[in-house]
Amino acid sequence: MDKNFQEEVCTQIIKFKPSLSKQRHQFVKDLVEKYKPKKVADLGCADCSLLWMLKFCSCIEVLAGLDICASVMEEKMHTLSPLATDYLQPSERSLTITLHHGSVAHKDPCMLGFDLVTCIELIEHLEESELQKFPEVVFGFMAPSMVVISTPNSEFNPLFPGLKFYRHPDHKFEWNQAQFQSWALETARCYDYSVEFTGVGHPPTGMEKVGFCTQIGVFVRKYPQTGESVQSEKPTEAVYKTVFKAVYPSLKDEKYLQNAVISEVIFTAQIIKHRLMSKHKECGDDPERKSKFLPSMDCLSDCLGKLVVEKNMEPFVSGNEVYIPLAIIFSFPKVNRLCGTLEKLCKLIAGKVTLSSDGSAVMFNIEHENEEN
Ligand code: SAH
Repeated sequence: MDKNFQEEVCTQIIKFKPSLSKQRHQFVKDLVEKYKPKKVADLGCADCSLLWMLKFCSCIEVLAGLDICASVMEEKMHTLSPLATDYLQPSERSLTITLHHGSVAHKDPCMLGFDLVTCIELIEHLEESELQKFPEVVFGFMAPSMVVISTPNSEFNPLFPGLKFYRHPDHKFEWNQAQFQSWALETARCYDYSVEFTGVGHPPTGMEKVGFCTQIGVFVRKYPQTGESVQSEKPTEAVYKTVFKAVYPSLKDEKYLQNAVISEVIFTAQIIKHRLMSKHKECGDDPERKSKFLPSMDCLSDCLGKLVVEKNMEPFVSGNEVYIPLAIIFSFPKVNRLCGTLEKLCKLIAGKVTLSSDGSAVMFNIEHENEEN
């Protein structure tokens, strides 16, 4: 390679866009979206920025963070709390986020049962004694199906002008590609994992040999393991301190499901009633048509994407009351999906929505509407 070119590259300030930290987190997010783990633990989670990004991945139901420094976690942990919108529109999935204060050199049962464990720019912060214990804790004890480890690639360092030693004053070491890969391959071999290497932060054109700025190992467990057997076979005492826990509102929780079903039932019944009343008006003074009072359910189906309507289940008016059979309401996709069965629907709205005496229809008083007519 041209010597001048190399010099030019070396003195130019290397800036990554998006930032290297964002690229590392995006790498994890892409992996989560590909493999859809339900339970993810981030070790050395620092300011919780990766956890915050991952809380939006709809496959994740359990997120945990661990750091030896409580104050760095506490700084932004409030960003992991549910927002008002989460309560207004609870999600179908459940989500619990927990933060623990402790060291990756120690085993704690709260770290069992995870599908994915991420260690982003963590290992280079570990003292030698901690680094020695780390594989046994993560691969032997936690034993998730996947582990992602990222660490600086020291071969890239000469491309940073002015960098004399390590990239961060707290780093205990920075490995070149061969050092990281031999450690990772040996760890994988010991604990029956496979490992593949990749990275983020491309070197400049012509300097490809130095490799990625951040080197990444993706480890996959070779043997199957069930959550339950992990918990029971590995009794250990709790050593971490839980510093934060947020349980997100979810439709899996009966109390949020009930609220959502009641709102949806009333909303659906109101729409049907509105259509019914419009039809009623259209029938005008024709007593024959008005007494039958059968709106076009096909039209309703078209408008609202309803599933099926049995011919004998139609809304009707009697005196000042309009009756919308629950069977019709249940046939609307959103209500149907929320409740699963008509029995469940009846159970969830019992005592909360005004029903006909036999409990088979939602009842509205239309005195007011009649007065307007
Ligand atoms: N993962 C973060 C940043 C990592 S910086 C990110 O992606 O942005 C390394 C973090 O590891 C620091 O927050 C540090 O407090 C934590 N750490 C260092 N030693 C540790 C140990 N033994 N156990 C757990 N966390 C540790």
